[in-house]
Amino acid sequence: MAGNGALDARNREKALRRLAANQVDVLVIGGGITGAGAALDAASRGLRVALIESRDLAAGTSSRSSKLIHGGLRYLEQRDFKLVWEALRERDLLVTKLAPHLVKPVSFLYPLYRKVVERPYVGAGLAIYDAMEGTRRPVPHHRHLSARGALRIAPALRPGLAGALVYYDAQVDDARHTITVARTAAAHGATVITRASATGLLRSPDGSRVTGARVRDEETGRQTDVLAQRVVVCAGVWTGLVYGLGGVRPGYQVRMSKGVHIVVPREAVRASTGMILRTEKSVLFFIPWGERWIVGTTDTDWSGERAEPVATAEDIDYILGTANRVLARPLTRDDVIAVYAGLRPLIAASDDKPTTKLSREHVVDVPIPGLASVAGGKFTTYRLMARDVVDAAVQDFGRAVPESVTGQLPLLGADGLPAVRAAAGRLAEDHGVSLETVEHLLGRYGSLSGEVLELARADSSLALPVADGHPYLRAEVAYAVSHEGALHIEDVLARRVRLFIEAADSGAAAAPAVASVMGGLLGWGRRRRAVEVRRYLELVEAGTGALRELGTPAARESAG
Ligand SMILES: Cc1cc2nc3c(=O)[nH]c(=O)nc-3n(C[C@H](O)[C@H](O)[C@H](O)COP(=O)(O)OP(=O)(O)OC[C@H]3O[C@@H](n4cnc5c(N)ncnc54)[C@H](O)[C@@H]3O)c2cc1C
Repeated sequence: MAGNGALDARNREKALRRLAANQVDVLVIGGGITGAGAALDAASRGLRVALIESRDLAAGTSSRSSKLIHGGLRYLEQRDFKLVWEALRERDLLVTKLAPHLVKPVSFLYPLYRKVVERPYVGAGLAIYDAMEGTRRPVPHHRHLSARGALRIAPALRPGLAGALVYYDAQVDDARHTITVARTAAAHGATVITRASATGLLRSPDGSRVTGARVRDEETGRQTDVLAQRVVVCAGVWTGLVYGLGGVRPGYQVRMSKGVHIVVPREAVRASTGMILRTEKSVLFFIPWGERWIVGTTDTDWSGERAEPVATAEDIDYILGTANRVLARPLTRDDVIAVYAGLRPLIAASDDKPTTKLSREHVVDVPIPGLASVAGGKFTTYRLMARDVVDAAVQDFGRAVPESVTGQLPLLGADGLPAVRAAAGRLAEDHGVSLETVEHLLGRYGSLSGEVLELARADSSLALPVADGHPYLRAEVAYAVSHEGALHIEDVLARRVRLFIEAADSGAAAAPAVASVMGGLLGWGRRRRAVEVRRYLELVEAGTGALRELGTPAARESAG
């Protein structure tokens, strides 16, 4: 039975006890988009499911992406037609049916600089891209522009271009999408517990199969054994480490590649569309993000700490330099509000492992009975990754397990969306907030927006903003605790609301107010609130090292 999917942080202890006492059918390790998707896939097939995440939902790669739900134009150039076709179908399903409140169409301008060959080449690519989508299209066709037409919608571009094309993809708040998928899994009965790490894999007495995992509660240090018919590893760049916990040899290796984005104010680049530029190795995106642009990305090997990959001053200078090749008014270091880095889980095969099903998109591995894993792929195709790993995990399950139904399962907040959108004006009036506030909430919670507004109605202090100049309400902080499982300030400011990447001070000034709202719900005393604030400020300091090195104004602001 589907419940309301509230991940109430105050019920975490109870959920942990329940998990220790009852065997589950599927235990998912990892709460990124893939793990959240696997939990939803398994729970919606009628299985008993638990998901454990060692930090927070989306704390790994799934909050650090380019935030595009796309076919991947550059995979077309590599002739990876199946990957593009699948990703485009997923994009369209998300935009129209599964998550129209979260996944929104966005246009990209592709500037052309060479007069003769470039337009037919790129135009043909985009025609194929569009054609792969089929006839029922939720986003418009690409179109050709003259140089003058291009400058009209992107006056930021340096004159001298030969023309441009405009095409459409979609974008999402990656962390919010992940949290919504996890909540939808909970609504279908899954137990979702964050700050709980797998520290070992349990084996049957004869050692032939995996029968669960040893789990450490990272809040208390307590360990419990969780028994499971199947363990599904969705640990992204941590996959090899999780295999290592049980002495299991993986059928593939996950290589880490670091990608960095910078965030700059919207007025720093005058354009009413996103933009994509070809670079020597890949592409550079200008992605509209509310009042800002996200610009990136880079692609460099990484062998350091997985949890908090850091951007360097060179990464930032590379992005600025590449962007400035086309901009009439160059971006400077002073424009940079924030920077973030993520690790791509790239697959390299181990060729002596027959159980491995290798594909360009993602890899499913069943190295030993009772254990399955999936890695690689991309955010856009998480639903397919989840389906494939659950399919592999439940082979020979001992009873029939239905096929995946997630293609027909709107995420929480999608149901009834048109009616709630239509009632936006009335909601604003009834709750005494602006229409803008209701629209802001609709784009984040969809048809559940009323739940957030009710919190603000019950306690008017929650109708105040979290930080001046940003649209987030304090009610969203309370909702993050009562419905989205937030346990620490970082969970709120880095992933539930995105001040960590949107505010010039990374949300540092808002931390005490967030501690106060969270503390009221979670029973934090004065000292605990101070500890939580300090912990957040330390995170900000670690994340803004490269900006400090460059002496940017944003670094000075976050230092307080
Ligand atoms: C710079 C960059 C840009 C990208 N842009 C895009 C894009 O625009 N569009 C797109 O489709 N894709 C994009 N991607 C790819 C996409 O972000 C990833 O494929 C996806 O987020 C990976 O999700 P995941 O769940 O597999 O891994 P993760 O999100 O990393 O999740 C793994 C989780 O496992 C947890 N974990 C690890 N060990 C344990 C343990 N022992 N116990 C419990 N939990 C554990 C970790 O804490 C982590 O939260 C991008 C990637 C990068 C790096």
